[in-house]
Amino acid sequence: MGRFRYSGKNWEGRDWTVGDGTKAFGQQIEASHPKRRGTDGTVASKGHDQGSPTSDHRPRPFVGPGIVRAIDVGVGSMSEGMGILEPLRLSRDKRIKYVMFHSSMFSSYPKGSTAPYTWRRYSGSNPHKTHFHKSVHPAADRNGSVWEIGTSGGGNIMASLEVIDTQKALNEAGQTDFEGKKLTEDGEYGPRTHSALVKGFAGGGGTHRHPISLSGQTGEGG
Ligand SMILES: [Zn+2]
Repeated sequence: MGRFRYSGKNWEGRDWTVGDGTKAFGQQIEASHPKRRGTDGTVASKGHDQGSPTSDHRPRPFVGPGIVRAIDVGVGSMSEGMGILEPLRLSRDKRIKYVMFHSSMFSSYPKGSTAPYTWRRYSGSNPHKTHFHKSVHPAADRNGSVWEIGTSGGGNIMASLEVIDTQKALNEAGQTDFEGKKLTEDGEYGPRTHSALVKGFAGGGGTHRHPISLSGQTGEGG
């Protein structure tokens, strides 16, 4: 028994199938990560359709037989998800519409100042921490070629989002780098961010206080 359904009837009784691209992706996941997760899924439930009526999990078109262009892949940890997703992101596969994971996302199109295939903030109500969501373009319907997914670790990009939060918090708290300058909020944990963080710790006196927590919140004596 695999992890995903690739065709059937949805809650409305409509026939649906995933496209070739999503089926190939699901089968690669099943081969490399066979453990089923509760958040795995392809076709939308009634509740999902009612909450997100234009989701790519809903068979398109919205009448008659349709195609599902999204897959949710449950993961046991952030690094498991990133291990799959980083090679995928770096492959710049044109079939991808967007991917969401851990309050972050990347897309095949630019958004604001963020280039294609670059992680950016995702602020939707579901942070996607126990699964990642992947949507594909209709062009993937008949393109089932192999996807570049991996099993290696790759938490650096997500970690950088935490670094940005830390840099923001340090700036807001008035902590400065070794030159007395505000930090550039770029997600790079370099000598300047390090020095500002160390100065923050030193401010706690003899005890090992954490004026700035990794979640980006300031707190006294936490
Ligand atoms: Zn989804």
